[in-house]
Amino acid sequence: MTDRRVLVTGGAGFIGSHLVERLLERGDEVLVVDNFYSGTRSNLHHLLANPAFELVRHDVTFPLYVEIDEIFHLACPASPVYYQRDPVQTTKTSVHGSINMLGLAKRTGAKILLASTSEVYGDPEVHPQPESYWGNVNPIGVRSCYDEGKRCAETLFFDYRRQHDLPIKVARIFNTYGPRMRPDDGRVVSNFIVLALRGEPITIFGDGTQTRSFCYVDDLVAGLIGLMESDPSFTGPVNLGNTGEFTMLELAELVVELTGSSSPIVHQPLPQDDPTRRRPDISLAKERLGWEPTTRLEEGLRRTIEHFRTAVGA
Ligand code: NAD
Ligand code: UDP
Ligand code: UDP
Repeated sequence: MTDRRVLVTGGAGFIGSHLVERLLERGDEVLVVDNFYSGTRSNLHHLLANPAFELVRHDVTFPLYVEIDEIFHLACPASPVYYQRDPVQTTKTSVHGSINMLGLAKRTGAKILLASTSEVYGDPEVHPQPESYWGNVNPIGVRSCYDEGKRCAETLFFDYRRQHDLPIKVARIFNTYGPRMRPDDGRVVSNFIVLALRGEPITIFGDGTQTRSFCYVDDLVAGLIGLMESDPSFTGPVNLGNTGEFTMLELAELVVELTGSSSPIVHQPLPQDDPTRRRPDISLAKERLGWEPTTRLEEGLRRTIEHFRTAVGA
């Protein structure tokens, strides 16, 4: 045991559930609060018997009074399908949720980390994206509830630092994938794998030339923990992501190959404000955290495909 009491908001989600496993493994006491909007109790089912673990249904837009030492603030739906289903709640989650968790950190003196996103760069005009780039975000589009919500959350973190001297850490996470994404999550990796395993047409939005950089979840979690443990003077924001850049067409072809699927590829309309390209500049994470991803896309996809074979029974 480490004596450390750690709160993980959104811990029943995809990234959160992997993070909780790592924290328990190193001996922390872990409290998860989650409203199960896009996460599930089943993601944590195997941990419920652990006496160092506690799970509470709670919406972070409401105040929370607990005694803790560290907060990983992850609560927020991350898939466009989920965050656009109730966009006002998405903004409330990022803004009110961050205010409450910062208020909690202020009262308890806890160190607090924000799971921010590469979406703060919007449809980037600078490529690859360094942390110094201010981004190109549409403030009134369908993605804004998520993008602007996270941008405002970052503002709140830095203002609580300046005004109240809070120990903050801000991670800008790029597209992350792996086991425990929901089959209906809606993000591209889970969609392509589920469709391929079911032998259904693989849906590429637009012409498939848009790019993303995909980080395997274990690498990402190591980065989040490394950031929390970093020198107190280091607040970030820091990019966490894999620098391998792929078109959606390349991703679809790789998924078809690795699943041995006979699914055809079909094209559907490109959603509004879909970023055309994205790749992190991770020099800062390498320098300050000694961190970089080690899992190649093909290897990470193999492990993710294994998970989905069981999850969708294909
Ligand atoms: P996820 O949707 O699987 O997990 C989010 C969790 O937050 C879910 O369990 C959900 O139920 C919970 N939640 C949502 N609103 C809440 C509220 N108001 N109160 C309490 N709980 C709430 O998504 P994920 O991929 O695990 O993402 C986790 C975090 O990382 C999010 O903050 C997301 O913005 C950030 N992030 C993820 C990615 C990625 O590619 N996965 C990329 C950038 C940033
Ligand atoms: N808050 C919370 N838990 C705490 C302390 C505060 O949820 O342990 C919430 C509280 O409801 C408040 C918010 O965090 O609305 C911001 O707190 P802060 O102390 O910064 O502001 P104030 O209470 O002065 O508005
Ligand atoms: N995408 C796709 N088919 C799908 C789901 C997504 O072609 O079934 C595309 C989407 O338009 C985007 C990219 O894949 O260009 C990544 O989408 P995702 O929702 O995973 O993440 P984000 O756009 O938030 O980076």
